[in-house]
Formats: sequence, C-alpha cells, structure tokens
Amino acid sequence: MTEKLDLIVRNGTLVIPGVGQVKADVGIAGGGIAVIGEGLTQSAAEIYDAAGLTVLPGIFDPHIHIGNEQSFESEAETETRAAILGGVTTVGIFLRSLEDSYFQHLPAFCRAMNERSYVDSVFHPQIFTEQQIEEIPGYAEQFGIRSFKFYMSGIPGIVKSVNDDVLLHGFRTVASLGQDAVACVHCETGALIDRARNELKLRKPEGTLADWEHAHPAVAEALAIQTALYLAKIAGAHLYVVHLSSRDGLEVVRAGRRAGMRFTVETTTPYLGINSSDPNGFLAKMVPHVRTQEHQVALWDGILEGAINTVGTDNTSRALATKKPEAGLHGSRPGLPALGTHLPALLHYGRMRGVPLEILIERATRSPARVYGIYPRKGTIAVGSDADLVVVDLDQERTVRAHDLQGMSDFSPFEGKRLRGWPVATIKGGKIVARDGKIIAEPSGRYLPRKRESAQQFEWFTK
Ligand SMILES: [Zn+2]
Repeated sequence: MTEKLDLIVRNGTLVIPGVGQVKADVGIAGGGIAVIGEGLTQSAAEIYDAAGLTVLPGIFDPHIHIGNEQSFESEAETETRAAILGGVTTVGIFLRSLEDSYFQHLPAFCRAMNERSYVDSVFHPQIFTEQQIEEIPGYAEQFGIRSFKFYMSGIPGIVKSVNDDVLLHGFRTVASLGQDAVACVHCETGALIDRARNELKLRKPEGTLADWEHAHPAVAEALAIQTALYLAKIAGAHLYVVHLSSRDGLEVVRAGRRAGMRFTVETTTPYLGINSSDPNGFLAKMVPHVRTQEHQVALWDGILEGAINTVGTDNTSRALATKKPEAGLHGSRPGLPALGTHLPALLHYGRMRGVPLEILIERATRSPARVYGIYPRKGTIAVGSDADLVVVDLDQERTVRAHDLQGMSDFSPFEGKRLRGWPVATIKGGKIVARDGKIIAEPSGRYLPRKRESAQQFEWFTK
C-alpha cells in the first residue's frame, strides 16, 4: 500500500473492545482509520509516538446535560472542551424542553453542536407532554433521533415527572420506531421520593451529604426499575435504565435478566468514584445520590459481571455561585461537572478494584455506541471507523483541580483527589485536538443523526 496517510499513531498498545490488547500502529487518512498493523511503512504527514502508552477508542459518554447553567450554545463549547481534554470524543445529550415542541428548538441545538462543540453528539430529548410523544416519529424522521428520556421522578426546579400512563404511551411510541429505538428512564418512584424528601427536611433541616440518601431511598429506585421493566415489556420497548445508583436497583436488574428481559443499564463515574461520606460534601450532591461504600461495591460488581452495560457521567455543569454548597443539604443545588474526570476516574477506581482494562473500556465505548446506533463508526478501533482515539498514560498521577479541566465550572466533585491514569492526547476525526493538557485545534464536533437499524444488526444485552 503506498497511500499517504495523514497521521500514524505508532508503538502504542491498543485496547480494542471484544478483541483485547494489541500492540500495533494506527494509520489515519481522511478522518478515518485506514490501516492497523505492526510497523506501518506508509509515509504520513504526522507521527504520534505512543511508545509506552495505551491507545483507546475515543470515549462515548452517553449521558450528559448541557445548558442547565449557562446557555446551550455557550456550554456546547465550554463543556465539550473539558470532554475532549479528558478523552471523551462523543456525547449523548439529554435535551430539555418542558413545554414546547422540540421542533422549535432542534435546529438551534444541532447548529450549536455543529458550530461550537469539540465532540460529536447524539440527542435524547426528554419527553414531558403528550404533544412531544405524538411528535416522536417526526423527531426520528426529520432529525435522526432514536432515543428519548422519561422521568418517573422529577427534580424540583429542574424537571417534572411523568405518570405511568404517559410512560406506557411513550414506550409504545418509541417501540413503534423499531427495535433499535431506546426509551431511557430515570427510575425513581416519584411519590416515595417526594415523601422522603419532605420528611428529611423536617427531621434534618441541616443535614450532611450522607443524609441526602434518605431523600432518595434505594427502594424508590428498585421499585421504579421494576415498574419500568414491566411497562417496557408490555410496550415491546428497549428500556435503558439511566444512572443506576444502588445495590437494591442492581438486584432488580439481575432478576430481570434472569427472567430473560431485554434492557440496558447504565451507571456513572461519580457513583463509582465518590461515596456519601466524601470530604467534598455538597460538591457531590446529585440526583440520584452518590451512596454508601456498600452500594458502590455493588455497582463495581455489576460492571464486572456485565449486569451494568454502560458508563456515563450525568454531567450537569454548575458554578460554585449557583451550586451553593454553603447553603447546606436542602439549599445546595444538585448537578455537577464530570466530563473532564470521566476517563481518569474510570481508570483509577476501576483498576483499584481489579476490573480488567478491557471491561472498563468496553463499558465506556463500544457498549453505549451499540445501544445508541453509532457502532462501529464509534466505539472501537477498526479500519473504516472514525479516527477518534485517546492516548492514555496509565501510570500518570495527577491531582484533580477544576481549573485544569477547562470546563465552565469552578469546582469538581473530584477536587483534590489523586487519580492514576490520564489522557495525554485526544485525536478526533483524525486530528490531534488535545495534547498534554492543552487544546491545540478548533472545535470540529458534529451532530450525528441516526438511521433505523435492522433487528439483526441490533444485538440485545442478555447478561
Ligand atoms: Zn441525567
């Protein structure tokens, strides 16, 4: 082969989901992976020497929110800057429109992600109204959207919950798009949460981060997963449980899998890395809650055994001024930035618990890419895939400082923690976009419309 390449990533150890660790060079041309092999001899405009380093597929964080603090347009730039520096090259964004039709907003959302984002993106609109449900086929047809989210429990001041009838109607509509379409659900039983939160306010007007768990009892998560599984089965919909946080929830997941139910389960790196006695306190306040060590151990077991299929962040960036940790348990706001720490936290805590690197990377790349219909374009290192790669120094140790993460937030829930395993370069669309903690290229992110996939192409998780 004499074709001239744009870039060769040489001498690295590749982690290829489903294949394993392979020592090979990656040759890149026209934004895609053109050739993989030992000692590539083609000429290239640029060489990146990854000797002693590990090369991963670009990380796909399937669960982020942007535009909750500043405008969607502004956060499309600032939060994806933190993402790309941290090795995340594609994100799934939960869009929010409490009342309006998404037709009014989708053109602007697409434009922001095409013009200002450093990473590629897919959208998951959050569904609140009957009109939005009726328009689901239109969102699929006109904007290539194949995943939608429903809240069984609202978050006061942010989103409202939907009832079981809306859930069932919504699931049926999503299922009508085809087997590959996904119904994402925030699984907490709203009535139990409302009561628990009110009781906690009376009982503990001050409270600590650990007390927050009483406002979001694990039983509410477990019960909601059971309900969602049942409704999804009736509707024939692919249920995707977002941000599983508890051991109790995991037990319901396991029972569902034993019963042969087909669904997907996600957890987040804040749950995997931070527990409710963390010294960073209310900086780690989120919904659902970071829980006790016991729940955390269960989540890692779920990752290892495959009951938990994907890992995201639930990134909802805030600034300290609105997070207000000083306002205490009930006054501080939920939501935290987590994109910049996603991969280092996964590598650090995962390896600490003995989870093989291949499993960690599978859950953060190929697995979500398959669920959301962008595999094998994303989520692997293969000829023909997009050249989205992250070069990692597995031995590099750094202390997390919000400033270094370069998002909009002036805090990190991982602030002050020493993590081992950091990206040293991120390649997106064949270009080195971030290197040694600096952004070195302009934003080149694209919104990715999705097409219907045939049932054969789509494989369910059965574990
Ligand atoms: Zn979320």
